[in-house]
Amino acid sequence: MRYRELGKTGLRVSELGFGTIPILKGSVPVLPEYFNPDTETAVAILRKAYEHGCNLYDTAILEEYGDAEEKLGVFAERVDRKSIIISDKARFYSGAEIYREVLRSSEILGTRPDIYFVHQVDEDNVDEVFGKYGALDALYDLKREGRIGYTGIASHYYSVLLRAAMDPRVDVLQGSGNILERGMLDRIRKEDAFREKGFILNKVYAAGLLTGFFSVAELIGGILEYPFSSALLGIGTFEQEAAAFAEEYPELHFTFEEVLERLAGHFDPIACDRCERCVCPCGHEIHTAFRQFNYFHLGKEYWSLRKLNMDLRQTYEDCISCIEQSCIRDCPRGLYIPGEVGRIYSLVRAYGEI
Ligand code: SF4
Ligand code: SF4
Repeated sequence: MRYRELGKTGLRVSELGFGTIPILKGSVPVLPEYFNPDTETAVAILRKAYEHGCNLYDTAILEEYGDAEEKLGVFAERVDRKSIIISDKARFYSGAEIYREVLRSSEILGTRPDIYFVHQVDEDNVDEVFGKYGALDALYDLKREGRIGYTGIASHYYSVLLRAAMDPRVDVLQGSGNILERGMLDRIRKEDAFREKGFILNKVYAAGLLTGFFSVAELIGGILEYPFSSALLGIGTFEQEAAAFAEEYPELHFTFEEVLERLAGHFDPIACDRCERCVCPCGHEIHTAFRQFNYFHLGKEYWSLRKLNMDLRQTYEDCISCIEQSCIRDCPRGLYIPGEVGRIYSLVRAYGEI
């Protein structure tokens, strides 16, 4: 296992970290499949990763990751606590709420979290999170009180991560990306503001969907060139653990076109890398719809259809009557965005969802 610096925290984290969603038991709707290991099995899988050099373990509160937080607590009790780094998170945006959640997480884990993230920060809640008495203020206070080690902001949005990168209260960022959805990583690589912060990357396997098209070596090797601190891999079985951590994979270089070419053998993907540069004056989140279209074909059919259907009719109607089409001007990949929206509309209609 190789190790990287976690920003300015002084911590060294394993290049690959353990994402604990797949060890949860229950029916928390975050994954397409559930492995449901019992506590002893989950702890044994966590230990295997530990033996392979993994020192970063990422979880979330019970409502988000089921009992994964409890299982991680059992594991933490059985190893040298100082040899592992626990990152935890909660989807609460006010200071009072996140303060309460940190105390609850600490109790469930049986130890203080090393990093605590405000989870899923987006445009709707970002001002509350960063504002006075918001969640970030509370995390900063909790850090000064010694109840957490470091503060974090987790988001799927580049604009939010950039704001966090420029905020001195934030120590660590968490964002998503993989060899297909690499647009945000390319932007982060070029922006100096991110150099000071630790960066934890998630969705390396795209919730498991890319593993049907690329080997684990390709998915891991293909992202190693990016300046993250640790890349989380969702692990729920011994086989997955061995595939992810038992070997040290070399860095690989896939162009975006090569990735699309591989997928084109199975379907006609929308060539969007999710750089999030397209801003629609009507407020349509085009890159998310494009991701769901690709995810639909990668195997997440039911879930993607449901997501695609949200707001799609309105998006389609706005796009066909849109004169300015500013999104096209913003897109470095030269996508004809209204045409791609039309393709999504036809797909969803074909399945009788509109
Ligand atoms: S074509 Fe117009 S309405 Fe459609 S996404 Fe682009 S800017 Fe928005
Ligand atoms: S549609 Fe174009 S601008 Fe928008 S996220 Fe995708 S690649 Fe970026």
